[in-house]
Amino acid sequence: MTSWLLLAAVIAEAAPAQMPIRSVPALQSGRILVVPFETPANDGGSYWLGDAAAVLVADDVNARGLGAIPRRARTRAYDQLHLPSNTLLSEATVIKVGQIVGASEVVVGRVQVESGTLTLRARATVLSGGAISSPTLMLRSRLNERDASGMLGRYLMRHCNAMIGYVFPFRTNPEQVNHKQICITDAYESVRAADGTALGIIQDMCMPPREMVRALGPRGFRWAASLSANNIQTLLCIAEDEPQADNGVTLSARTDAFDLPVATVRHEYSAGDVRRRDALVRTARQVLRRAGGLVGKVRLIDSFSHAVGTARFATRPEDGALSPECRVWAFPNLFVVDGSFMPTSGGVNPSLTITANALRVAAHIRDDFAALATNTR
Ligand SMILES: Cc1cc2nc3c(=O)[nH]c(=O)nc-3n(C[C@H](O)[C@H](O)[C@H](O)COP(=O)(O)OP(=O)(O)OC[C@H]3O[C@@H](n4cnc5c(N)ncnc54)[C@H](O)[C@@H]3O)c2cc1C
Repeated sequence: MTSWLLLAAVIAEAAPAQMPIRSVPALQSGRILVVPFETPANDGGSYWLGDAAAVLVADDVNARGLGAIPRRARTRAYDQLHLPSNTLLSEATVIKVGQIVGASEVVVGRVQVESGTLTLRARATVLSGGAISSPTLMLRSRLNERDASGMLGRYLMRHCNAMIGYVFPFRTNPEQVNHKQICITDAYESVRAADGTALGIIQDMCMPPREMVRALGPRGFRWAASLSANNIQTLLCIAEDEPQADNGVTLSARTDAFDLPVATVRHEYSAGDVRRRDALVRTARQVLRRAGGLVGKVRLIDSFSHAVGTARFATRPEDGALSPECRVWAFPNLFVVDGSFMPTSGGVNPSLTITANALRVAAHIRDDFAALATNTR
C-alpha cells in the first residue's frame, strides 16, 4: 500500500504540470480528476484494476487534503458523453471529461498484472519550478522520506553579488544601446586552491534610463545618480558562493490558502563568499578608475535571482537527491530540470547552464522513454 500512496503523491503534485486542462480557467482547490488507469492487458483479471487504481489514488489525494473529484461525478460525465465506464480514453476525451467535471488537474496512469505482480506505471513527469519552488513541491509530497542523501531542500546557493558604478566625465553609452558585452574572467580560478571555489567574474551592465534610476536607485543617491545617469558605467561582480548544508528550503508550520505548508527559506553567506565578492569589487573599482571614472558607489545585491542547488545531482543516491540524468533517485519517472540540480553555483550567470542541462535531460528522456516504466510495485 505504501507504493500506492507514494505514487499518488508524485502524480498528484507533479503530473498536473504536464497535463494542464487549458480550457478550465481558474485553478481551484479540490478539483483533481483521477481517471481510471489504463489496463493494457484488457483481460478479466486486470480490467477491474483500472477503476480500482483510480479509486485508491483519489482516496489518497483526499487523504492528503488535496481534493479529488468524486467517482460519481466522473461517471456522470462519462454518461453524458455516452462513454462506457471501462473504455480506454484518448487524451482529448480525458480533457472533455475534465471540462465537464470542472477539473483543474488530471491524474492518469496504467496498471498491469504480469505473473502475479501488480505494476503501476505513471508517465515521465518533469518538474521545473526553480530552486525554491521545486524542493517545496517535493517536500510537500514528502519525497524527502525516500531521499537517501537527506539533501533535498538543502545547499541553496545564490551568488554573492555587488554592483559598482562610476561617474565619468563623458557619456558612457551615447548610442543608448542595452549592452552587456564585456566579461572579465582573468581571476576566475585564482582562489580555487585556497577556497575550493572559483572567484567569479565581472561583467558590464547597461545603466538604466534616468527615470528608473530616480525611482529605484540607491537610497540617498537617487537624485544625483539620475542626473548623472548618462555618464555612469556599472560593473556587476558575481562571486561564487559556497554550498552550505544549512542554507535551504524547509516547510513551516504555517499553511497557505490551500492549506499547504508555506516554505521557509534560509540563507547566509559565508565569510569566504563575502571575501570573494569584495575582491571582485576592488578589481572592478580599479578597472573603472583606470578607464577615467571619477567617483563611484557600490551596491550589494541581496536577491535570490541566481538561486540554485536545492536538489543537487550526484552519482550515488547517498550524495544527492537527483541522479546524473536529474531523475529523483527514489522516483525514476520524476525529473527535475531547473537550477535545483546544481551542486555548486559556479561564478557565472546560471541560466545557460540550466538551459543546457534541461536540453540534455530532455534528450535523455526522449531516448530512454521506452524504459521509463516506474518500478513502483
Ligand atoms: C532580474 C533578474 C535578472 C537575471 N539576469 C540573468 C542574466 O543576465 N543571466 C543569467 O544567466 N541569469 C539571469 N538571471 C537568473 C535566471 O533568470 C535564473 O537563474 C533562471 O531563470 C533559473 O531557471 P529555473 O528554471 O531554475 O527557474 P525559473 O526560470 O525561475 O523557472 C521556474 C518557473 O516555475 C514557475 N513556478 C514556480 N512555482 C510554481 C508552481 N507552484 N506552480 C506552477 N509554476 C510554478 C515559475 O513561475 C517559473 O516560470 C536573472 C534573474 C533575475 C530575477
